[in-house]
Amino acid sequence: MDFALPETVRPLLETIEQFIATMVIPAEHEVFERGFAASHAILEDLRAKCRAAGLWGPQLPKALGGLGLGLVEHGLVSERLGRSPLGHYVFGAQAPDAGNIEILHQFGTDAQKARWLAPLVRGEIRSCFSMTEPENPGSNPTMLSCAAVRDGDHYVIDGHKWFTTAADGAAFAIVMAVTNPTASRHAQASMIIVPTDTPGFDRVRNIKIMGDAGSGWASHAEIWYRNVRVPVDNRLGPEGAGFMIAQERLGPGRIHHCMRWIGICERVFDLTCRHITQRKIDPEKTLATRQIAQAWIAEARAEIDASRLMVLNAAWTIDQRGFHAARELVSTIKFFVADVMMRLVDRAVQLHGALGITDDTVLAHYYVHERGARIYDGPDEVHKMVLARRILDRYSA
Ligand SMILES: Cc1cc2nc3c(=O)[nH]c(=O)nc-3n(C[C@H](O)[C@H](O)[C@H](O)COP(=O)(O)OP(=O)(O)OC[C@H]3O[C@@H](n4cnc5c(N)ncnc54)[C@H](O)[C@@H]3O)c2cc1C
Repeated sequence: MDFALPETVRPLLETIEQFIATMVIPAEHEVFERGFAASHAILEDLRAKCRAAGLWGPQLPKALGGLGLGLVEHGLVSERLGRSPLGHYVFGAQAPDAGNIEILHQFGTDAQKARWLAPLVRGEIRSCFSMTEPENPGSNPTMLSCAAVRDGDHYVIDGHKWFTTAADGAAFAIVMAVTNPTASRHAQASMIIVPTDTPGFDRVRNIKIMGDAGSGWASHAEIWYRNVRVPVDNRLGPEGAGFMIAQERLGPGRIHHCMRWIGICERVFDLTCRHITQRKIDPEKTLATRQIAQAWIAEARAEIDASRLMVLNAAWTIDQRGFHAARELVSTIKFFVADVMMRLVDRAVQLHGALGITDDTVLAHYYVHERGARIYDGPDEVHKMVLARRILDRYSA
């Protein structure tokens, strides 16, 4: 097995690394200070530079004008983009748009593609994905209350959603709603495109996350859908196919997230090594001379390298043998890498002392905004349960 970077993507990865280090990271502080929505001009300028450098939309399939990278290659790109909280956004590869692009490309009608997919791919509009409800367990999404009732050639949608990431400023939401309440559990819901200017679409608030409500793309909204009427033509895929499409969306998405988290780990590792080799804890010695700090560094290196190999193995298995063959690997990396990331961020904060909890470094941002990694796309416990059950089934058989 060859563990070297594929030669096909090496130059691309180097260019992206350079772009992130010289253009994106220097802009972070100002964007965080102003807030995301108020930083529109800065971010659009970075996006224009990204397009001019031929780097826009690295995850897009060739049919949409992208590079057509496989999952392993895209995973490696995602790690580089993950070195800045702004990386994926600047490159047009951010969640939830990247996932929505995938499903619109795969399941959209020609009219839906022309109206929604084309401007989304170009970065002219943004979108959101509205599935989770405050009254129901997101970890069991077959329990949905939001309903879309057929009325002639329209659906009328009523429901309460929250944690609809990036709804603030989005042009449309893809809403998961029950259309077939008497069907089997996994055939009850459909995905329906709802323009956010439709009467009855009410974005109540951006939810505060540990004190920060965010804005624009960097926010999570609570939304009421009250008597929202949209044409039946806005349904994505067949009626009742919502869960099937959701699975398509989540499979590659977990690889992208895990590799993004590895990018975060590398950034945090780098910051920590720089800090402890500079920070004197007595007139002669730096923090780096202390065995406890050295042990953390060694453990972090091992954890990051192990994580990367595991994620690339899962990506390679999907590329070669399809998502079904990689289900256990995907569950494994989802909880393992999220945990490694949070542990590294916590240790980095600790080794930075009081500086670690200020907004003078990116660490506090990660501490607050990446904690959700252990909850979204399947909480840790659900992935552990799925993995253990499948392993133990083989023993009991
Ligand atoms: C940052 C962030 C962004 C998000 N973005 C979106 C988005 O764009 N669109 C969207 O629709 N949703 C989004 N979500 C919601 C996310 O999908 C849900 O939070 C997730 O599915 C968990 O659902 P829940 O919060 O209702 O927790 P619950 O389902 O109530 O679970 C609570 C906890 O119970 C435990 N648990 C759950 N099930 C089991 C089990 N079977 N066995 C043992 N323990 C269990 C876990 O510890 C879990 O964290 C986002 C969430 C976060 C944190």
